[in-house]
Amino acid sequence: MAEIEREAMDVDVVIVGAGPAGLSAAIRLKQLDEDLNVVVLEKGSEVGAHILSGAVLDPVGLDTLLPDWKDKGAPVTSEVTTDRFWMLTEKGGFKIPGWPMPPFMSNHGKSVVSMGQVARWMAEQAEAMGVEIYPGMAASELVLRDDGSVKGVVAGEFGKEAGPGLPSASFPNSPATTPLTDPSSRRTSSDAAMPG
Ligand SMILES: Cc1cc2nc3c(=O)[nH]c(=O)nc-3n(C[C@H](O)[C@H](O)[C@H](O)COP(=O)(O)OP(=O)(O)OC[C@H]3O[C@@H](n4cnc5c(N)ncnc54)[C@H](O)[C@@H]3O)c2cc1C
Repeated sequence: MAEIEREAMDVDVVIVGAGPAGLSAAIRLKQLDEDLNVVVLEKGSEVGAHILSGAVLDPVGLDTLLPDWKDKGAPVTSEVTTDRFWMLTEKGGFKIPGWPMPPFMSNHGKSVVSMGQVARWMAEQAEAMGVEIYPGMAASELVLRDDGSVKGVVAGEFGKEAGPGLPSASFPNSPATTPLTDPSSRRTSSDAAMPG
């Protein structure tokens, strides 16, 4: 098959995945150097779309990353006040005393949250700091240097089949193209129909 011409985007840091880890990394990088050009790629249609809907959150990470998270309106409001442990049976259940439980089962001081909402709020904080977030943009391939280290990613490719990633009939006439991180990794083609 002919080689494909891709658009390339040169950035300082590309982060794959706008989950709590990726967004924390993006925010921290901007705190360390506001001039860094940081991009986050998210395969979900929006930030939070692929995040588990509920969680017990220990805010210790937020305290460190964004100490004023309460003032900034973080959706972390339902503090745990009581822990109850139940063994559920087919027809009901029975309560288990809390004292034999290991310390990590105590949720006092933590909050029950929607991680999807927390991720969206973190994305807002990151964007306010200048992070560029691209939802609907899955990274599908690594771009490697000759020494095997990672130089960038291929992203936004649609129309490839699952498994070995072979192009389907619609590829490459797909609706989005490819930001990369390194112009020197462009491939060229005479018949590719990639919108600019
Ligand atoms: C069932 C379950 C219950 C849990 N409950 C709790 C809990 O109560 N409390 C708690 O603290 N933790 C809980 N966790 C753990 C918590 O969900 C994870 O630790 C946390 O989500 C990890 O964050 P992350 O950013 O590393 O990954 P994720 O949250 O998985 O985020 C990864 C993001 O990357 C995106 N992505 C993946 N691949 C690509 C790609 N190729 N290109 C672009 N984007 C991509 C995904 O769409 C997603 O948005 C639970 C986990 C599970 C599975």
